[in-house]
Amino acid sequence: FSVPYPKNEPVLSYAPGTKERAALKKALADARAKVLDIPMYIGSEEVRTGNTKTITPPHDHKHVLAHFHEGDSSHVEQAINAALGAKAAWADLSWEHRAAIFLKAADLLAGPYRYAINAATMLGQSKSPYQAEIDSACELIDFLRFNVYFMTQIYQEQPESSPGVWNRSEYRPLEGFTFAVTPFNFTAIAGNLPTCMALMGNTVVWKPANTQVYAANVIMQVLKAAGLPDGVINLIYVDGPTAGDVVFNHPDFAGIHFTGSTKVFQNMWRTIGTNIHRYKTYPRIVGETGGKDFVMVHKSANPKEVAVALSRGAFEYQGQKCSAASRAYIPSNLWDEVKKYLVEDLKDFKMGGTEDFGNFINAVIDEKAFDSIAGYIEKAKQNPMNTIVAGGKVDKSKGYFVEPTVIETKDPSSVTMCEEIFGPVLTIYVYHAENFEDTLELVDRTSPYALTGSIISGDRYAIELATKKLSNAAGNFYINDKPTGAVVGQQPFGGARASGTNDKAGAKMNLMRWVSARSIKETF
Ligand code: GLU
Repeated sequence: FSVPYPKNEPVLSYAPGTKERAALKKALADARAKVLDIPMYIGSEEVRTGNTKTITPPHDHKHVLAHFHEGDSSHVEQAINAALGAKAAWADLSWEHRAAIFLKAADLLAGPYRYAINAATMLGQSKSPYQAEIDSACELIDFLRFNVYFMTQIYQEQPESSPGVWNRSEYRPLEGFTFAVTPFNFTAIAGNLPTCMALMGNTVVWKPANTQVYAANVIMQVLKAAGLPDGVINLIYVDGPTAGDVVFNHPDFAGIHFTGSTKVFQNMWRTIGTNIHRYKTYPRIVGETGGKDFVMVHKSANPKEVAVALSRGAFEYQGQKCSAASRAYIPSNLWDEVKKYLVEDLKDFKMGGTEDFGNFINAVIDEKAFDSIAGYIEKAKQNPMNTIVAGGKVDKSKGYFVEPTVIETKDPSSVTMCEEIFGPVLTIYVYHAENFEDTLELVDRTSPYALTGSIISGDRYAIELATKKLSNAAGNFYINDKPTGAVVGQQPFGGARASGTNDKAGAKMNLMRWVSARSIKETF
């Protein structure tokens, strides 16, 4: 049971003059020069339906990157059959051989595919080089390597035996097929959800968001190059309700691994409940579903540090992280200074597409997201309780650009303080500096979510009080840091309440959900 002990993949800088910068620029140019024709991957087949959808970079929606072939319910059935057909051999393959495939995939991503996957993430999802690097290279590599390590820890957990009795635990894959539904915002999540189920011996139907297909296609190529057998992971592009209809009505449905919206997850859960009598086994339901993440500041904090935590935490990747800071509580004694530094910081954030590596803010993912975010900003402007402190302008003529926007509100339960916007919008409520404890209660009750949050303070008593009072308000809690950027193996990621089932991504407890244990007692 010995596998290479994982270390986090080092983050490349892409600084001017570096080899990696030249290699990434070349990968981007190569990708821009082609128009890909992306099939679904079902069993050993590349499936082209002829019913194609176009992929364009969110920052340049006239440029065609690819067409992908959309499927219908018959393709969902085919994918389920392929997963069920591949199941016996895959489940029977020893863990070392399963592990070797995913460790090799990690090495391919760290080496020959690094620039291709980062370029795909930058073009398909409008990430900056740094945001692509920490996501589609480092975090995905880390997920693969750490999951292998945690898998071996699970398999080694055995009960006590005694003279005359030998007890064993056998960690079998789930009976049936599993379903992965992945979001646009992290290529790492898209890669993690199906692969960690497969690692534990399950076979998978994988449905990425349409806005993620471009990078998902590269992940599939990496897995194939690493030797993943046909049918273990089947990648399909089918609209959500159609896929759900087939999957959740199937007697062999054994589990779902989901990242996406609370509403969709709750609908899935309801459908699974309605169909519960159809299944051979109770399906595992694991989901991460959004957040309204807070930064709570104590009067003892350093205003410059607060401004940096806010500008990075709220606006990296255009605020399209489930973990993004989107509501902040600033004490009255610090607000003027925090505001000054924050506004200064935002002036340095250049906005534009992937061609200029100096751009910090790129486009939001698609027109629907753009319209929704722009709608929130417009409504916020009309609310007399609000002041726009920075940003507020939007432009979709070339790409879906939204300025990083800071709203100061006098109403702590105003819409942008409570609802998940999933864009570059931060709302700030200035509280009376002496009302720290009451404000902690306000933080806790303002939102139904509980994904991430930060306390920024120079006072140890205040840090302890916030840690206790906000115990259920965030699954990932940060002290004197921004609430984004969890690292695999260091800060296992996930939240409870409306944010999900809190089965921490890239952690042993997550992998445990994808096995069904058998206890064996043998008497001599
Ligand atoms: N794990 C990411 C972070 O800590 C967020 C993942 C998500 O957006 O779902 O920033």
